Amino acid sequence: MATLAEVLAGATREGILYDVLPDGRLRCYACGHRCPLPEGAAGVCKVRFNRGGRLLVPWGYVGGVQCDPIEKKPFFHAYPGALAYSFGMLGCDLHCSYCQNWVTSQALRDPAAVAPPLEASPENLVRDALRHRARVLVSTYNEPLITSEWAVAVFKEARAAGLATAFVSNGNGTPRVLDYLRPWIDLYKVDLKSFDDRHYRQLGGRLAPILDSIRQLHAMDVWLELVTLLVPGFNDSHDELSRLTAFVAGVSPDIPWHVTAFHADYKMGETENTTPEMLLAAAQIGRDNGLRHVYAGNLPGQVGALEDTRCATCGCVLVSRFGYHVRSYAVTAGGRCPACASPVPGRWSDHFDTQLTSRPFVPRRNKLELRVLNS
Ligand code: SF4
Repeated sequence: MATLAEVLAGATREGILYDVLPDGRLRCYACGHRCPLPEGAAGVCKVRFNRGGRLLVPWGYVGGVQCDPIEKKPFFHAYPGALAYSFGMLGCDLHCSYCQNWVTSQALRDPAAVAPPLEASPENLVRDALRHRARVLVSTYNEPLITSEWAVAVFKEARAAGLATAFVSNGNGTPRVLDYLRPWIDLYKVDLKSFDDRHYRQLGGRLAPILDSIRQLHAMDVWLELVTLLVPGFNDSHDELSRLTAFVAGVSPDIPWHVTAFHADYKMGETENTTPEMLLAAAQIGRDNGLRHVYAGNLPGQVGALEDTRCATCGCVLVSRFGYHVRSYAVTAGGRCPACASPVPGRWSDHFDTQLTSRPFVPRRNKLELRVLNS
């Protein structure tokens, strides 16, 4: 029986994001590792590889699909209440020991992570997204940068059908991959996991490419929101959070920052869970550093007003939430505060459709026409 790696090796196409080096190796630019790949070698992500002098990249499958409320991504300033049709591939360029999507992200590294891939086309993914009345189509669950060529193929189809498009990503990009995505992407969430390069190296990355990506995404006018999963003892010191939020405010104080609660997972089962008090303290640091939209996540009902979007000018509640549930919505058709008419940073619909779901669910596979790859 073929291994997962062997099955995936057949679900490929020649990529775009690479150069041939003078010594014949290939340089991949899909993520900040910029792997130089000799003949036959795969990158750190294990899903892009040099075969016969061409860079082959993942194509024609998904690791899974799910219908999520957009609040789960989380995007709090983009189409509140929308259904975000979400697909993941397999593999990741980092190896975070606390990963909460490890079944898909670590499928090629960890034998305990088993996620059978499903054959898919851009057309049937978009058809299914429309069938579920999605507003946004999202590449998520694993690291989407490492499958950017496939994401762009899906996003082109999505845009033609009137959908917005999004990445939920670790942000370990390069200028080249972000330029490549720019015409096809509307929303981008970056996990800013730490502000300490040593911590990023523990996770298998570096801090600098992530900060560069945040600057570039903001400059490109892609709608950007940032998330920091607060892991006790790892990234929760006052000093680190202060430097992190000062950096974000320096890029723009209007970038929403979500600080979210860790729960023991994957290889960090012994670490204590984040408490509401820890989230509130972290959020205060962000506000002290000038951030105008700070949210606390993963602990619904325990973080006071930090689930709600307020006007940064007058304090009017614009979107009230409990967890993923939108309780009320008051942003005007033009994306302004109804009380003081200040513009609200983000991407807003002309009107608020009732929220289609506040709970994630998996679409029925027979409707999606997906079958297990090579089955
Ligand atoms: S996506 Fe990143 S890890 Fe994978 S081959 Fe390219 S540069 Fe290397």
